[in-house]
Amino acid sequence: MHELNPHSLPKETGWIEVIAGCMFSGKTEELIRRLRRAKIAKQIVLVFKPKIDTRYSVDEIVSHSEQSLPSIIVETPQEILELSKDAQVIGIDEAQFFSKEIVEVCNQLANDGKRVLVAGLDQDYRGIPFEPMPQLLAIAEYITKTLAICVVCGNPADKTQRKIISAERVVVGASDIYEARCRKCHYLPEEN
Ligand code: ZN
Repeated sequence: MHELNPHSLPKETGWIEVIAGCMFSGKTEELIRRLRRAKIAKQIVLVFKPKIDTRYSVDEIVSHSEQSLPSIIVETPQEILELSKDAQVIGIDEAQFFSKEIVEVCNQLANDGKRVLVAGLDQDYRGIPFEPMPQLLAIAEYITKTLAICVVCGNPADKTQRKIISAERVVVGASDIYEARCRKCHYLPEEN
């Protein structure tokens, strides 16, 4: 995985890092790892997630491997801007569930000199780009694409297979509903 080199980080400016990938690819783990390092360096860190994600915990971000970090639940991107005035480092998890205003909010935070770390699903269960992630990837200085391992064939996987049939784009769940698949093994549930 691409590692940010702390000796070549920008100075006297903010920037945006995006961690994008399918479910079970370690996005949240990677986000937590970077935020923890910032905390150890005594930087003021705030973590946000959208209201929709109640998978494991209401006020923490939690990876599938059960690492966690306290987080603030917000309904709109604007709230992140209002709450982040004193923060130096902003973490945002499950960014695909925010409205498109998150793009402008991330830009504003970075323009104000803050380091902004954003993690999210880059594709929905059909393999279609999950807005606003494409826009966030376009404006970020640093991009990490995390890959999982296909549960069928063991190839690197970047697709989220939904195991139930639903017309909804968002069905909250974990390994009971989803698994990681490669391009070859991914299919639309309604096609089978
Ligand atoms: Zn496969």
